Amino acid sequence: MAKIYYEQDADLEILKEKTIAVIGYGSQGSAQANNMKDSGLKVIIGLRPEGASAERAKQDGFEVFPISEAAAKADIIHVLIPDEVQADVYNSEIAQQLKPGKALGFSHGFNIRFKQIVPPNFVDIIMIAPKGPGLIVRKLYKEGFGVPALIAVEQDYTGKAKQIALGMAKAIGSTKVGVIETTFAEECETDLFGEQVDLCGGVTELIKASFETLVEAGYQHEIAYFETLHELKLIVDLIYSRGLYGMWSAVSNTAKYGGLTRGKKIVSKASRRSMKKILEYVKSGKFAEEWMKENKKGRPKLNALLEQEKGHLIEKVGKEIRKMAGIEK
Ligand code: NAD
Ligand code: MG
Repeated sequence: MAKIYYEQDADLEILKEKTIAVIGYGSQGSAQANNMKDSGLKVIIGLRPEGASAERAKQDGFEVFPISEAAAKADIIHVLIPDEVQADVYNSEIAQQLKPGKALGFSHGFNIRFKQIVPPNFVDIIMIAPKGPGLIVRKLYKEGFGVPALIAVEQDYTGKAKQIALGMAKAIGSTKVGVIETTFAEECETDLFGEQVDLCGGVTELIKASFETLVEAGYQHEIAYFETLHELKLIVDLIYSRGLYGMWSAVSNTAKYGGLTRGKKIVSKASRRSMKKILEYVKSGKFAEEWMKENKKGRPKLNALLEQEKGHLIEKVGKEIRKMAGIEK
Protein backbone atom coordinates (compact mmCIF):
# COMPACT_ATOMS: atom_id res chain seq x y z
CA MET A 1 0.00 0.00 0.00
CA ALA A 2 1.38 3.42 -0.95
CA LYS A 3 2.13 5.85 1.87
CA ILE A 4 -0.24 8.81 1.70
CA TYR A 5 0.54 12.18 3.27
CA TYR A 6 -2.05 14.65 4.56
CA GLU A 7 -2.13 18.16 6.10
CA GLN A 8 -0.51 17.19 9.41
CA ASP A 9 2.44 15.49 7.62
CA ALA A 10 3.56 18.70 5.88
CA ASP A 11 4.75 22.03 7.24
CA LEU A 12 5.02 25.33 5.36
CA GLU A 13 7.52 26.55 7.98
CA ILE A 14 10.44 24.98 6.05
CA LEU A 15 9.59 27.25 3.08
CA LYS A 16 8.96 30.49 4.97
CA GLU A 17 12.42 31.98 4.40
CA LYS A 18 12.78 30.64 0.88
CA THR A 19 12.19 32.20 -2.52
CA ILE A 20 10.56 29.89 -5.03
CA ALA A 21 11.10 30.69 -8.71
CA VAL A 22 8.44 29.10 -10.88
CA ILE A 23 9.91 28.84 -14.37
CA GLY A 24 7.07 29.02 -16.91
CA TYR A 25 3.57 30.42 -16.49
CA GLY A 26 1.46 28.00 -18.50
CA SER A 27 -1.01 25.38 -17.33
CA GLN A 28 0.89 24.10 -14.25
CA GLY A 29 3.10 27.18 -13.76
CA SER A 30 0.28 29.66 -13.29
CA ALA A 31 -1.81 27.32 -11.15
CA GLN A 32 0.99 26.21 -8.82
CA ALA A 33 2.50 29.72 -8.54
CA ASN A 34 -0.84 31.31 -7.61
CA ASN A 35 -1.69 28.58 -5.09
CA MET A 36 1.72 28.85 -3.41
CA LYS A 37 1.47 32.65 -3.33
CA ASP A 38 -2.01 32.48 -1.78
CA SER A 39 -0.60 30.04 0.79
CA GLY A 40 1.79 32.82 1.88
CA LEU A 41 4.99 31.70 0.15
CA LYS A 42 7.40 34.01 -1.65
CA VAL A 43 7.03 33.14 -5.33
CA ILE A 44 8.67 34.86 -8.30
CA ILE A 45 8.31 33.91 -11.97
CA GLY A 46 11.05 33.22 -14.50
CA LEU A 47 10.06 33.71 -18.14
CA ARG A 48 11.39 34.72 -21.51
CA PRO A 49 10.90 38.51 -21.38
CA GLU A 50 9.35 38.57 -24.85
CA GLY A 51 7.06 35.58 -24.18
CA ALA A 52 3.28 35.86 -24.06
CA SER A 53 2.89 34.72 -20.43
CA ALA A 54 4.99 37.53 -18.91
CA GLU A 55 2.18 40.07 -19.06
CA ARG A 56 -0.33 37.67 -17.48
CA ALA A 57 2.04 36.87 -14.62
CA LYS A 58 2.55 40.57 -13.91
CA GLN A 59 -1.19 41.19 -13.98
CA ASP A 60 -1.61 38.40 -11.44
CA GLY A 61 0.71 40.33 -9.13
CA PHE A 62 4.00 38.48 -9.59
CA GLU A 63 7.50 39.82 -9.99
CA VAL A 64 8.71 38.48 -13.33
CA PHE A 65 12.37 38.05 -14.25
CA PRO A 66 14.33 36.55 -17.13
CA ILE A 67 14.79 32.86 -16.36
CA SER A 68 18.48 33.05 -15.35
CA GLU A 69 17.80 35.99 -13.03
CA ALA A 70 14.86 34.25 -11.36
CA ALA A 71 17.02 31.13 -10.94
CA ALA A 72 19.78 33.24 -9.38
CA LYS A 73 17.40 34.82 -6.86
CA ALA A 74 15.68 31.59 -5.87
CA ASP A 75 16.32 28.88 -3.29
CA ILE A 76 13.90 26.57 -5.09
CA ILE A 77 13.79 26.55 -8.90
CA HIS A 78 10.56 24.86 -9.97
CA VAL A 79 10.75 24.03 -13.67
CA LEU A 80 7.27 24.16 -15.25
CA ILE A 81 7.90 24.70 -18.95
CA PRO A 82 7.16 22.01 -21.58
CA ASP A 83 9.26 18.87 -21.03
CA GLU A 84 10.82 18.95 -24.49
CA VAL A 85 12.38 22.41 -23.97
CA GLN A 86 13.48 21.97 -20.35
CA ALA A 87 16.97 20.61 -21.10
CA ASP A 88 17.94 23.51 -23.39
CA VAL A 89 16.60 26.09 -20.95
CA TYR A 90 18.28 24.31 -18.01
CA ASN A 91 21.64 24.27 -19.77
CA SER A 92 21.54 27.86 -20.98
CA GLU A 93 19.79 29.64 -18.08
CA ILE A 94 19.57 27.58 -14.93
CA ALA A 95 22.67 25.37 -14.49
CA GLN A 96 25.08 28.29 -13.85
CA GLN A 97 22.78 29.64 -11.11
CA LEU A 98 22.80 26.49 -8.97
CA LYS A 99 24.51 26.83 -5.59
CA PRO A 100 24.96 24.21 -2.86
CA GLY A 101 21.68 23.65 -1.02
CA LYS A 102 19.35 25.00 -3.67
CA ALA A 103 16.51 22.77 -4.88
CA LEU A 104 15.40 21.92 -8.39
CA GLY A 105 11.69 21.06 -8.68
CA PHE A 106 9.73 19.36 -11.45
CA SER A 107 6.16 18.19 -12.03
CA HIS A 108 7.16 15.31 -14.30
CA GLY A 109 10.17 13.02 -14.15
CA PHE A 110 11.01 12.88 -17.86
CA ASN A 111 14.18 15.00 -18.03
CA ILE A 112 15.74 13.62 -14.87
CA ARG A 113 14.77 10.00 -15.51
CA PHE A 114 16.14 10.06 -19.05
CA LYS A 115 19.19 12.19 -18.18
CA GLN A 116 18.28 15.05 -20.49
CA ILE A 117 19.05 17.18 -17.43
CA VAL A 118 21.96 16.10 -15.21
CA PRO A 119 22.16 18.43 -12.19
CA PRO A 120 25.24 18.68 -9.95
CA ASN A 121 25.39 16.61 -6.75
CA PHE A 122 25.03 19.64 -4.44
CA VAL A 123 21.33 20.40 -5.03
CA ASP A 124 18.09 18.74 -3.97
CA ILE A 125 16.06 17.27 -6.85
CA ILE A 126 12.37 16.97 -6.06
CA MET A 127 9.06 16.39 -7.79
CA ILE A 128 5.65 17.79 -6.92
CA ALA A 129 3.21 16.57 -9.55
CA PRO A 130 -0.47 17.39 -9.14
CA LYS A 131 -2.58 14.67 -10.77
CA GLY A 132 -4.76 17.06 -12.72
CA PRO A 133 -4.61 19.86 -15.28
CA GLY A 134 -3.59 23.33 -14.11
CA LEU A 135 -7.08 24.80 -14.38
CA ILE A 136 -8.41 22.24 -11.90
CA VAL A 137 -5.39 22.65 -9.60
CA ARG A 138 -6.28 26.33 -9.32
CA LYS A 139 -10.07 25.98 -9.24
CA LEU A 140 -10.14 23.40 -6.43
CA TYR A 141 -7.60 25.38 -4.38
CA LYS A 142 -9.84 28.44 -4.56
CA GLU A 143 -12.72 26.27 -3.38
CA GLY A 144 -10.64 25.33 -0.32
CA PHE A 145 -9.73 21.91 -1.64
CA GLY A 146 -7.01 20.44 -3.89
CA VAL A 147 -6.09 17.72 -6.36
CA PRO A 148 -4.07 14.69 -5.27
CA ALA A 149 -0.35 14.91 -6.03
CA LEU A 150 2.76 12.79 -6.27
CA ILE A 151 6.04 13.77 -4.62
CA ALA A 152 9.46 12.26 -5.18
CA VAL A 153 13.03 12.88 -4.15
CA GLU A 154 15.74 12.02 -6.66
CA GLN A 155 18.61 13.64 -4.75
CA ASP A 156 18.62 14.76 -1.12
CA TYR A 157 21.61 17.04 -0.62
CA THR A 158 20.18 19.06 2.28
CA GLY A 159 18.56 16.14 4.08
CA LYS A 160 15.32 18.10 3.90
CA ALA A 161 14.28 17.44 0.33
CA LYS A 162 11.18 15.43 1.23
CA GLN A 163 9.96 18.03 3.73
CA ILE A 164 10.44 20.74 1.09
CA ALA A 165 8.46 18.73 -1.48
CA LEU A 166 5.71 18.03 1.06
CA GLY A 167 5.58 21.73 2.00
CA MET A 168 5.15 22.71 -1.64
CA ALA A 169 2.48 20.05 -2.10
CA LYS A 170 0.67 21.49 0.92
CA ALA A 171 0.94 25.03 -0.46
CA ILE A 172 -0.57 23.81 -3.74
CA GLY A 173 -3.52 22.35 -1.83
CA SER A 174 -2.74 18.70 -2.39
CA THR A 175 -2.25 17.48 1.20
CA LYS A 176 -5.95 18.28 1.77
CA VAL A 177 -6.78 15.27 -0.40
CA GLY A 178 -3.64 13.14 -0.25
CA VAL A 179 -0.08 13.10 -1.53
CA ILE A 180 1.58 9.84 -2.57
CA GLU A 181 5.33 9.33 -2.53
CA THR A 182 6.84 7.87 -5.68
CA THR A 183 10.17 7.98 -7.53
CA PHE A 184 11.12 9.90 -10.67
CA ALA A 185 11.42 6.58 -12.49
CA GLU A 186 8.05 5.23 -11.38
CA GLU A 187 6.17 8.46 -12.10
CA CYS A 188 7.78 8.92 -15.49
CA GLU A 189 7.63 5.35 -16.77
CA THR A 190 4.01 4.81 -15.69
CA ASP A 191 2.98 8.22 -17.06
CA LEU A 192 4.42 7.55 -20.51
CA PHE A 193 3.04 4.00 -20.53
CA GLY A 194 -0.43 5.20 -19.54
CA GLU A 195 -0.69 7.91 -22.14
CA GLN A 196 0.62 5.65 -24.91
CA VAL A 197 -1.28 2.46 -24.18
CA ASP A 198 -4.47 3.39 -22.44
CA LEU A 199 -5.38 7.06 -21.96
CA CYS A 200 -4.45 8.73 -25.24
CA GLY A 201 -3.09 6.18 -27.70
CA GLY A 202 -5.14 3.10 -26.85
CA VAL A 203 -8.49 4.77 -26.40
CA THR A 204 -8.36 6.85 -29.60
CA GLU A 205 -7.46 3.80 -31.70
CA LEU A 206 -10.25 1.80 -30.08
CA ILE A 207 -12.72 4.56 -30.91
CA LYS A 208 -11.54 4.93 -34.51
CA ALA A 209 -11.37 1.20 -35.19
CA SER A 210 -14.85 0.50 -33.84
CA PHE A 211 -16.30 3.57 -35.61
CA GLU A 212 -14.71 2.58 -38.93
CA THR A 213 -15.95 -0.99 -38.57
CA LEU A 214 -19.55 0.21 -38.24
CA VAL A 215 -19.26 2.80 -41.03
CA GLU A 216 -17.65 0.30 -43.43
CA ALA A 217 -20.51 -2.10 -42.67
CA GLY A 218 -22.92 0.57 -43.93
CA TYR A 219 -24.35 1.97 -40.69
CA GLN A 220 -25.14 5.70 -40.44
CA HIS A 221 -22.18 7.81 -39.35
CA GLU A 222 -24.13 9.54 -36.59
CA ILE A 223 -25.26 6.27 -35.07
CA ALA A 224 -21.69 4.95 -35.18
CA TYR A 225 -20.43 8.14 -33.49
CA PHE A 226 -22.87 7.91 -30.60
CA GLU A 227 -22.15 4.25 -30.09
CA THR A 228 -18.35 4.28 -30.22
CA LEU A 229 -17.37 7.72 -28.89
CA HIS A 230 -20.18 9.60 -27.16
CA GLU A 231 -21.28 6.71 -24.94
CA LEU A 232 -17.70 5.94 -23.95
CA LYS A 233 -17.78 8.92 -21.61
CA LEU A 234 -20.90 7.66 -19.88
CA ILE A 235 -19.28 4.28 -19.30
CA VAL A 236 -15.98 5.77 -18.12
CA ASP A 237 -17.87 8.09 -15.74
CA LEU A 238 -19.50 5.02 -14.20
CA ILE A 239 -16.16 3.21 -13.91
CA TYR A 240 -14.57 6.35 -12.42
CA SER A 241 -17.20 6.79 -9.74
CA ARG A 242 -18.18 3.17 -9.02
CA GLY A 243 -15.41 0.89 -10.29
CA LEU A 244 -15.59 -1.85 -12.92
CA TYR A 245 -18.12 -3.95 -11.01
CA GLY A 246 -20.24 -0.86 -10.38
CA MET A 247 -20.33 -0.19 -14.12
CA TRP A 248 -21.29 -3.79 -14.91
CA SER A 249 -24.07 -3.51 -12.34
CA ALA A 250 -25.48 -0.47 -14.13
CA VAL A 251 -25.64 -1.85 -17.68
CA SER A 252 -28.11 -4.38 -19.10
CA ASN A 253 -27.61 -8.11 -18.68
CA THR A 254 -27.11 -8.35 -22.44
CA ALA A 255 -24.31 -5.75 -22.24
CA LYS A 256 -22.76 -7.58 -19.25
CA TYR A 257 -22.71 -10.92 -21.05
CA GLY A 258 -21.62 -9.52 -24.42
CA GLY A 259 -18.96 -7.28 -22.95
CA LEU A 260 -17.46 -9.82 -20.56
CA THR A 261 -17.30 -12.59 -23.17
CA ARG A 262 -15.96 -10.41 -26.05
CA GLY A 263 -13.61 -7.88 -24.42
CA LYS A 264 -10.59 -10.19 -24.39
CA LYS A 265 -10.95 -10.82 -28.13
CA ILE A 266 -10.25 -7.09 -28.63
CA VAL A 267 -7.55 -6.56 -26.02
CA SER A 268 -6.05 -9.94 -26.81
CA LYS A 269 -2.84 -11.72 -25.77
CA ALA A 270 -1.17 -10.00 -28.72
CA SER A 271 -2.28 -6.61 -27.36
CA ARG A 272 -0.81 -7.47 -23.97
CA ARG A 273 2.45 -8.47 -25.62
CA SER A 274 2.48 -5.06 -27.37
CA MET A 275 1.90 -3.34 -24.03
CA LYS A 276 4.93 -5.11 -22.56
CA LYS A 277 7.05 -4.08 -25.54
CA ILE A 278 5.92 -0.47 -25.25
CA LEU A 279 6.80 -0.48 -21.54
CA GLU A 280 10.24 -1.93 -22.28
CA TYR A 281 10.81 0.70 -24.95
CA VAL A 282 9.93 3.44 -22.44
CA LYS A 283 12.13 1.97 -19.70
CA SER A 284 15.11 1.53 -22.01
CA GLY A 285 15.09 5.26 -22.77
CA LYS A 286 14.55 4.57 -26.47
CA PHE A 287 11.19 6.34 -26.53
CA ALA A 288 12.72 9.44 -24.91
CA GLU A 289 15.52 9.36 -27.48
CA GLU A 290 13.04 9.03 -30.36
CA TRP A 291 10.91 11.90 -29.02
CA MET A 292 13.85 14.26 -28.48
CA LYS A 293 15.10 13.50 -32.02
CA GLU A 294 11.61 14.22 -33.40
CA ASN A 295 11.68 17.58 -31.59
CA LYS A 296 15.09 18.48 -33.02
CA LYS A 297 13.67 17.91 -36.53
CA GLY A 298 10.69 20.20 -35.84
CA ARG A 299 8.21 17.37 -35.11
CA PRO A 300 7.42 16.32 -38.72
CA LYS A 301 5.91 12.96 -37.73
CA LEU A 302 3.81 14.39 -34.92
CA ASN A 303 2.48 17.20 -37.11
CA ALA A 304 1.57 14.80 -39.93
CA LEU A 305 -0.24 12.46 -37.53
CA LEU A 306 -2.15 15.33 -35.95
CA GLU A 307 -3.26 16.54 -39.40
CA GLN A 308 -4.41 13.04 -40.24
CA GLU A 309 -6.41 12.85 -37.00
CA LYS A 310 -8.00 16.24 -37.70
CA GLY A 311 -9.18 15.03 -41.10
CA HIS A 312 -10.73 11.77 -39.85
CA LEU A 313 -14.41 11.25 -40.68
CA ILE A 314 -15.26 10.84 -36.98
CA GLU A 315 -14.09 14.42 -36.40
CA LYS A 316 -16.41 15.83 -39.05
CA VAL A 317 -19.36 13.82 -37.77
CA GLY A 318 -18.49 14.67 -34.18
CA LYS A 319 -18.35 18.41 -34.80
CA GLU A 320 -21.92 18.40 -36.14
CA ILE A 321 -23.25 16.19 -33.40
CA ARG A 322 -21.59 18.06 -30.56
CA LYS A 323 -23.02 21.31 -31.87
CA MET A 324 -26.47 19.78 -32.24
CA ALA A 325 -26.34 18.34 -28.72
CA GLY A 326 -25.00 21.58 -27.19
CA ILE A 327 -21.79 19.82 -26.07
CA GLU A 328 -19.47 22.04 -28.14
CA LYS A 329 -20.29 25.72 -28.37
P1 NAD B 1 2.83 24.61 -20.71
O1 NAD B 1 2.94 24.16 -22.12
O2 NAD B 1 1.50 25.11 -20.25
O3 NAD B 1 3.96 25.71 -20.41
C1 NAD B 1 3.95 26.88 -21.07
C2 NAD B 1 4.93 27.84 -20.40
O4 NAD B 1 6.27 27.50 -20.75
C3 NAD B 1 4.67 29.25 -20.85
O5 NAD B 1 4.84 30.13 -19.77
C4 NAD B 1 5.75 29.46 -21.90
O6 NAD B 1 6.10 30.81 -21.99
C5 NAD B 1 6.90 28.63 -21.35
N1 NAD B 1 7.78 28.18 -22.42
C6 NAD B 1 7.44 27.45 -23.52
N2 NAD B 1 8.50 27.21 -24.30
C7 NAD B 1 9.56 27.82 -23.70
C8 NAD B 1 10.94 27.95 -24.02
N3 NAD B 1 11.44 27.40 -25.13
N4 NAD B 1 11.71 28.64 -23.16
C9 NAD B 1 11.22 29.17 -22.05
N5 NAD B 1 9.92 29.08 -21.67
C10 NAD B 1 9.10 28.42 -22.49
O7 NAD B 1 3.39 23.46 -19.76
P2 NAD B 1 2.59 22.56 -18.72
O8 NAD B 1 1.60 21.72 -19.45
O9 NAD B 1 2.16 23.41 -17.57
O10 NAD B 1 3.77 21.58 -18.26
C11 NAD B 1 4.78 21.99 -17.37
C12 NAD B 1 5.27 20.78 -16.62
O11 NAD B 1 4.21 20.24 -15.84
C13 NAD B 1 5.74 19.66 -17.53
O12 NAD B 1 6.84 19.02 -16.91
C14 NAD B 1 4.55 18.71 -17.56
O13 NAD B 1 4.88 17.37 -17.82
C15 NAD B 1 4.05 18.87 -16.13
N6 NAD B 1 2.66 18.50 -15.93
C16 NAD B 1 1.68 19.07 -16.69
C17 NAD B 1 0.35 18.77 -16.45
C18 NAD B 1 -0.76 19.44 -17.24
O14 NAD B 1 -1.90 19.23 -16.89
N7 NAD B 1 -0.50 20.25 -18.25
C19 NAD B 1 0.01 17.89 -15.42
C20 NAD B 1 1.02 17.33 -14.65
C21 NAD B 1 2.34 17.65 -14.91
MG1 MG C 1 0.69 11.87 -18.63
